[in-house]
Amino acid sequence: MIINNIIKKNLLSEGKTKKIYETNHPLKVLIQYKDHITAFNGLKNKFLQKKGHLTNEISSLIFEFINSCKIKTHFIRKFNKIEQLCYKVNMIPLEFVVRNIVSGSLSRRLGIKEGEHISNAIFEIFYKNDELKDPLINDHHVVFLKIISYEELNTIFRIISHLNCILKSFFLDKNIILVDFKIEFGKNHNNEILLSDEISPDTCRLWDKKTMKKLDKDIFRIGFDENMLDIYMEILKRLNVG
Ligand code: UDP
Repeated sequence: MIINNIIKKNLLSEGKTKKIYETNHPLKVLIQYKDHITAFNGLKNKFLQKKGHLTNEISSLIFEFINSCKIKTHFIRKFNKIEQLCYKVNMIPLEFVVRNIVSGSLSRRLGIKEGEHISNAIFEIFYKNDELKDPLINDHHVVFLKIISYEELNTIFRIISHLNCILKSFFLDKNIILVDFKIEFGKNHNNEILLSDEISPDTCRLWDKKTMKKLDKDIFRIGFDENMLDIYMEILKRLNVG
C-alpha cells in the first residue's frame, strides 16, 4: 500500500496488541493496532472485533493533541483505520505510571481505598521484564540497571509532569477524570527521548465526571468483556465532540 510515498514493508515485531512494520523510509514505521485485548500481563487475552480500529482512532487523537502541545512523540499521523505512521524508536524497557487518584495496584499496595485524591501526583516506574513480572522499581534501580541515566530520567519526569497537566484538562473538558495512566518512552536515531506507545482506555483509568462510572479497561479486568466496545465508542465520541 502506498500513501504519501510510504510503503509498508516487513513485519519487524509483534506484541500482544500491536504489530510493527518497517517502511521504505528508514526512520519511520507503521504501527498496527490488533483486535486483541489483554489484561493481567497477558493472562487474559481476547479477540474483540473492531477494537484495533477504535483504539487506533483514540490513541491517534490523543497523540495529535500532545504533539500540538509541543511534547515530542513518536506519532506522525494516523495512516489508515488500524495503522499509524510513527518515528522508529528503541523502546526504553520502563513503564511510567502517573496517579492522580488512588486505584488499582496502588490501592492494593498501600491499603488505601480506591477514589482517594492524590494532591502530589505520584509517579511510579515499572521495569518491563516478563520473567520478573514487571516489578516496581525506583530511579536508583534504573540507573544501576544501566537502562537510562539520572539526567534522562529527569528529562522524562519533566515531560510526564507537563503531560499530566495537559491531559488532565484535556479529559476534563470532555467530562472525564484522568485517574491514572501508563506511558512509555523510546529513543530515536539521535538518542532523543520521545513519548511513544499508546494512550487509550487500555492504558489509562478514566472515570465519568458526573457518575464516576469507569470508562476504561477495568471493565474488561472485572469481566464485562462484551461492554468494552461500548466503552471505546463512548470515549471516541467524547474526544470527537471536544
Ligand atoms: N497499566 C497499563 N499497562 C500495564 C499496567 C498498568 O497500561 O501493564 C495502566 C493501567 O491501565 C492503569 C495504570 O497503568 O491506568 C496503573 O495501573 P496499576 O499499576 O494500578 O495496575 P493494575 O491495577 O492495572 O494491575
